[in-house]
Amino acid sequence: MLITTLGFPRIGKNRELKFLLEAFWRKEISEEEFLKKVEDLKRSNILAQVNAGVEVVPVGDFSLYDSVLDTAWMYGCAGKRFNFDPKASDLERYFIYARGDAKNPALEMTKWFDTNYHYIVPEIDGQFSLRDNWILEEFKWAREVLKGKKVRIKVVLLGIYTFLKLAKPKDESQLIEWMKSLAPVFSEVVSSLIESGAKFIQIDEPALVYGKDKRAVRLAGKIYNELWDIGKKKTQFILQTYFSSIEEYFPEIVQWGFDWIGLDMVRGREANLKAFSCTKAAKGVGFVLGVVDGRNVWRTDYSQAVSTLRTFARRVGEERIMISPSCSLQFVPYSLEGEDLGEVQPYLAFAMEKLAELKEIKAVYDGDKELLKRNRRLISNLQKEAFRNDEAVRARMKALSKEDFIRSVPFKKRFALQKKSLNLPLFPTTTIGSFPQTQEVRRMRRLYRTGQISELAYQVFIAEKIREVIRFQEELGLDVLVHGEFERTDMVEFFGIKMKGFAFTRNGWVQSYGSRCVRPPIIYGDISRPNPMTVSEIRYAQEQTDKPVKGMLTGPITILNWSFVRTDIPRWQTAYQIALALRDEVLDLEKAGIRIIQVDEPALREGLPLKKREHKRYLNWAVKAFRLATSGVRPDTQIHTHMCYSDFNDIIEAISAMDADVISIENARSRGELLDVFRTYKYDKCIGPGIYDIHSKRVPPIEEMVELLEECLRRGIKKELLWVNPDCGLKTRDWPETKRALANMVKAAMVMRERYGE
Ligand code: GLN
Ligand code: ZN
Repeated sequence: MLITTLGFPRIGKNRELKFLLEAFWRKEISEEEFLKKVEDLKRSNILAQVNAGVEVVPVGDFSLYDSVLDTAWMYGCAGKRFNFDPKASDLERYFIYARGDAKNPALEMTKWFDTNYHYIVPEIDGQFSLRDNWILEEFKWAREVLKGKKVRIKVVLLGIYTFLKLAKPKDESQLIEWMKSLAPVFSEVVSSLIESGAKFIQIDEPALVYGKDKRAVRLAGKIYNELWDIGKKKTQFILQTYFSSIEEYFPEIVQWGFDWIGLDMVRGREANLKAFSCTKAAKGVGFVLGVVDGRNVWRTDYSQAVSTLRTFARRVGEERIMISPSCSLQFVPYSLEGEDLGEVQPYLAFAMEKLAELKEIKAVYDGDKELLKRNRRLISNLQKEAFRNDEAVRARMKALSKEDFIRSVPFKKRFALQKKSLNLPLFPTTTIGSFPQTQEVRRMRRLYRTGQISELAYQVFIAEKIREVIRFQEELGLDVLVHGEFERTDMVEFFGIKMKGFAFTRNGWVQSYGSRCVRPPIIYGDISRPNPMTVSEIRYAQEQTDKPVKGMLTGPITILNWSFVRTDIPRWQTAYQIALALRDEVLDLEKAGIRIIQVDEPALREGLPLKKREHKRYLNWAVKAFRLATSGVRPDTQIHTHMCYSDFNDIIEAISAMDADVISIENARSRGELLDVFRTYKYDKCIGPGIYDIHSKRVPPIEEMVELLEECLRRGIKKELLWVNPDCGLKTRDWPETKRALANMVKAAMVMRERYGE
């Protein structure tokens, strides 16, 4: 029973990757130095796993920015429209795909399945070639690194179906067409690996968990089948799935001829077990069993893990079992070393601790009773900890009634009331909340956090920033202002710190995209809000201007989805607890004279279960959580929400059911794709599809923004309901860019008023 992993935190123990990327982009280090240091990082990631007892080590899971982009790069299909400076190096080109430059808007970026990791969406035209067989180089390099060690290398490739599915084909026929033309190139890569002596090849096909695209999946099986002629005897092939169960395809894929099938036995446990017990597996097929949760931070229940292993081993034999995490470990922090999480800490496991768990589970399987006993005690102690339950919170949850989820009057009436009280022009302009977070802002926050400046000095500084940004927005002529969010490092952490039931790590970073990392809080107990969290800053901002200032909150579903959650109560209960805390905040803001309150829910879509049959239930409670947080306000208080980086088309009804008066939504980067839905769905509340892609340095010209607004009208959004705003918050941009872009945006709104105003 070999121990393997499916991927490891690329960013390194101390976010080395982030700092290297940033130094390179700022031209502080040369390409050569950058690549050399990256190599050191990759080496230490591999060795960390080997030293922890991993016997089959993945190679190829590392990426300088994103693995989907790497795959597209390999096949020369990232995007034809890119216009590179002929002098640009490969590395520079690679980053231009990811981040754009003055001449080229970046490729679209979107969520990787239901995680908070973002991948780059290649723009595929159906043409593929072996542009750069980097994976082969990677394999050869790893072989050198691991020379003399008693481990096996496993080369990780993104499967042909999942890769192309993630590239957003317009339908299954196009997907199939693409698969057919990619197949020969794919097999060329695999052949090269086999010839060079790769013993294990892991082909990731997580998209199988959707249970969709019957024809395309069948074709994938055929394509893989043809590989066996090339190298079946020399190389073992693993078909790896994760994030959910694959019962829809289980009977089929065990016949595909793979040596191993990798299953998520945490999130997909029940259904995968059932599928396994109902299927007559093809002879000789082994299973890679993901029994340690790669998506959460709690210690594993060894009894359950071992029982899963035994169920499989009884039928296929121990030698046909590998033990692994349920998915790549890139979704959990690197290690608990140096953390001080008090009473919660003994119950936690990050990536390094999970590696240790794999080894222990194997030992328990082999009969270590002492280890098992200790683990049993730990698991049962957690259930009994006092920090789990707060009676007051439980009582409030019990007392909830229908009215708590409904605004007092319907939108149409609210619209009229708000129109009168806010007196905004047609095509009102606003931003999403944050403004550029300069070095200075970050430095002051750090000084405050580490106690080097006083609370008062810090507050004076934030107040000054707020005054500046209010003046800045007034000068630009924006209609609805924000306070800039300078006091917030992170939109979830900021609130989590102020609520009970959350724990925070010092170094628990997880990659969100490229160089961007987040530090998700750990929800370990019942949640409440002891004191107001945002009122003083927002009130101060409102005092500086006659224009309305939006109060800014992060929504319950986003806080939930961007945290590591407890697993002893259902997610919806945690969501309602957060919603109740936010509801108090919303009402406090209203009391303080704030007339517009925005509750951001950028993560609503990514929490959508991967299986369609579970969508309805999730959306139902997610929408209710948002409404619980927001529906206590007066009719003339305007509730905004914001969402980004997702496909909204399939959840538009749920978005509407949130009953927010205004929603701002990502749109610019996927070039109007979002708007398709409005052809068929009559969205009847205010909406601001983003017209400025804030993830790129590029300043969009006025005409381009006007054109996007015109497109909105053409798609049937009523002019009275259309708002003008960027895609997302501006915190990653710099001031000069922001000023030019927002000035253009305000002018675009003026052009529209000229054209459509009465
Ligand atoms: N209000 C937040 C901001 O502007 C929203 C961020 C987000 O959607 N991810 O930064
Ligand atoms: Zn956003």
